[in-house]
Amino acid sequence: MTDHVTDHVTDQAPRGPMRAPRIGHGWDLHRLEPKAPAGEGRALVIGGVTFEHDRGPASHSDGDALLHAITDALLGAIGEPDIGQLFPDNDPENDGRDSADFLAEAVRRVSAAGLAIGNVDATVVLQRPKLGPRKAAIRERVAGMLGVATRDVNIKGKTHERVDAVGEGRAIEAHACVLLVARP
Ligand code: MG
Repeated sequence: MTDHVTDHVTDQAPRGPMRAPRIGHGWDLHRLEPKAPAGEGRALVIGGVTFEHDRGPASHSDGDALLHAITDALLGAIGEPDIGQLFPDNDPENDGRDSADFLAEAVRRVSAAGLAIGNVDATVVLQRPKLGPRKAAIRERVAGMLGVATRDVNIKGKTHERVDAVGEGRAIEAHACVLLVARP
């Protein structure tokens, strides 16, 4: 293994202030399974907001795909290891863990890099339940976790037109882009 690969995987990349702006992208998907006792689905949580639904994510952590995508976008923007490297799914400490913890660690690392969050734009792809009625709540919740104004977070909801796993209600997908700017 070459040195630069080792550095990345072992999280030993050089630290210090970074030049702004920097862009980051994150994506995540979780299977949606019937909830217990019928299946292994957990409660469906999207952006820290809990939805009433007969299915939920099969996941090691709480399975919040939106927070996972935003976490990876933040970490990606500063060239840090991704969420799976920082919080392995075979670590018992991460079992059922609130994904707000993962996001908080990414925010801490952004700050350590001398940067601030400019804005976040995210899309949740989900056949059902409908995201629309809770979109404002998710937006406010995520902005609070990130420590930014609500207008600096945008959440879009899309269906998958009833095709493939997401469209058949068997998975949830989230995409996120972030822009990091110089700290004011
Ligand atoms: Mg995930």
